[in-house]
This record gives sequence, C-alpha cells and structure tokens, in this order.
Amino acid sequence: MVDYHVHPDFSHDAEGSIGEFCARAVEIGLDEICFTTHYEPDPARSDIEHVRVNGRMQPVASDWPDAYFAAIQAARVKFPGLVVLAGVEVGYDPGLVGTISDFLSRHPFDFVLGAVHSLDSICLTSKDELERFKTEFLRRGPEAVAERYFHDVRSAAGSQLFDCLAHLDIYRKYIQPLFDSRFTQTANSLLPSVLKFVAESGTGIEVNTSALRRGNAEPYPESRILKLAKDAGVQVFTTGSDSHRPADLGKGLDVAAQMLEGLGVEPARFRNRRAGNLV
Ligand SMILES: [Zn+2]
Ligand SMILES: [Zn+2]
Repeated sequence: MVDYHVHPDFSHDAEGSIGEFCARAVEIGLDEICFTTHYEPDPARSDIEHVRVNGRMQPVASDWPDAYFAAIQAARVKFPGLVVLAGVEVGYDPGLVGTISDFLSRHPFDFVLGAVHSLDSICLTSKDELERFKTEFLRRGPEAVAERYFHDVRSAAGSQLFDCLAHLDIYRKYIQPLFDSRFTQTANSLLPSVLKFVAESGTGIEVNTSALRRGNAEPYPESRILKLAKDAGVQVFTTGSDSHRPADLGKGLDVAAQMLEGLGVEPARFRNRRAGNLV
C-alpha cells in the first residue's frame, strides 16, 4: 500500500512529526509514504495560512522547505525499509500561477497535488469559514457556484503545474448541502468535459479516503466520477488518506485500491514528479 496524501506537523492544521508518521507507516506495513504539506500561497489568506517549523508558525512564503526536505532526508536514513517521498499539496487559484510555478521550480518535489480549496480567497473545505462562504456565494446561486468551482479545477489542470488533482468532488463536504439539486445537476453536466480536459492535460486524479472517516460511503471523488475520469482518458490515479495525524495514516486505502482495481488500474507511484510502476 502507498499513501500519497499525508500532512505532518509542517501543516499548521496537523499533528505528528515526519518521524512519527514514518514509524506508523512501518507499523501498518506501508511501502511508500508521500508527505504533502499544505502550500497555500494566496496573499489574501496570509493571516490564516502558515507552515509550522519546529513548533513555530512561519509565513507560507518563508524558507520552510529547507527544514522540510531536511526532515524527510533524516527519515529516509532512519527508516531505510520505507520509501519516503517529498510532496506538497498546493492550494490553487488561477491568479497564483506565477507564484506556484516559481515555488515548484525551486524545490525538488517527488509529487505535487493541486487542490481547489478556496474560491475568491474563501475556503470551501473549512467549517470555520462556512458562514463567510454562505455570505459571499449563496446569492450567486447553485449553477454559478458549481460552474466557478469547475472553472478553477479546469484551470488547475490546464496550468500543468500538478501531477494530480486532489479530492475532486470535495464540494460534497460543505458546499453541495448548501444548495438544492441544481448544484449536483450542474456539476454532473460539467464533469465529462472537465475530465476530458484533465485527461488531455496529462494530470492525474487522486482517490482521497478522508471522506470515509467522515461517514461517507465513498471517497473523494465518488466511484461514479472515478469511472468517468477513467473513461475520459485519465491515466494516473493516486491514493491518499489525507491524514492530519499518525492515527489516520493509511485509513481506507484498501477501499481506494479496490475501486481502482475495478477500473483496471493500480495506484500510481511517483519519483521526481514522474509516475511509474517502480517498486
Ligand atoms: Zn486538500
Ligand atoms: Zn490535504
């Protein structure tokens, strides 16, 4: 099993050091662990988003990757039987392409996830910001919000900055329940063309099992969308728990792997931003 979505305590909303996650990975028999610390470079959110280094919050734009890569290198030495990869989960916004591109060019990541976490700098995956989201977006109506979300997803794929798109239907968490069925109808009508565009961009799709820990029967994205992605020509699929503490590491990966097996694909493994079936 491989877990390609893991937040150690470099992410300000996570707990557990890189070493503690690796010890847990060995305990549960993972072959590979890919850390994907949050990188949220939106200047409009700089008072909310931080990166933690040695217990201290640092600005996202600081030199935290130096400490991050050093900690990952130390874990590689300490856990020689485990493949430990340096990844990042980038919060995407179409206005941040230059900033993200510059950041990624300066650091030798193995794997880069792109995620649409915010619209107009308001987080759509945080309970704390739900009231703000409602104030700004309810009046726009379900169709416009769904269209806006997929516009940004499409833009993320088109930027070709990312190896995979994270939790494609994360709107199921807080956003979809705010609206009537027109939200889902609009999403469903947009998905085939968006997924075709994602496939043509060469970007992969992640199967994110955090939804299972929230009582959902299906990961992000649900199996119906995963099949649409495969049929649209997406070739690379990764699996990740999106764990923010060691106890959640690897949870649900068996379900994700089974879903992919049903589509005739294996969870992808990355090295130096390239997918392959390396063992
Ligand atoms: Zn995310
Ligand atoms: Zn995450």
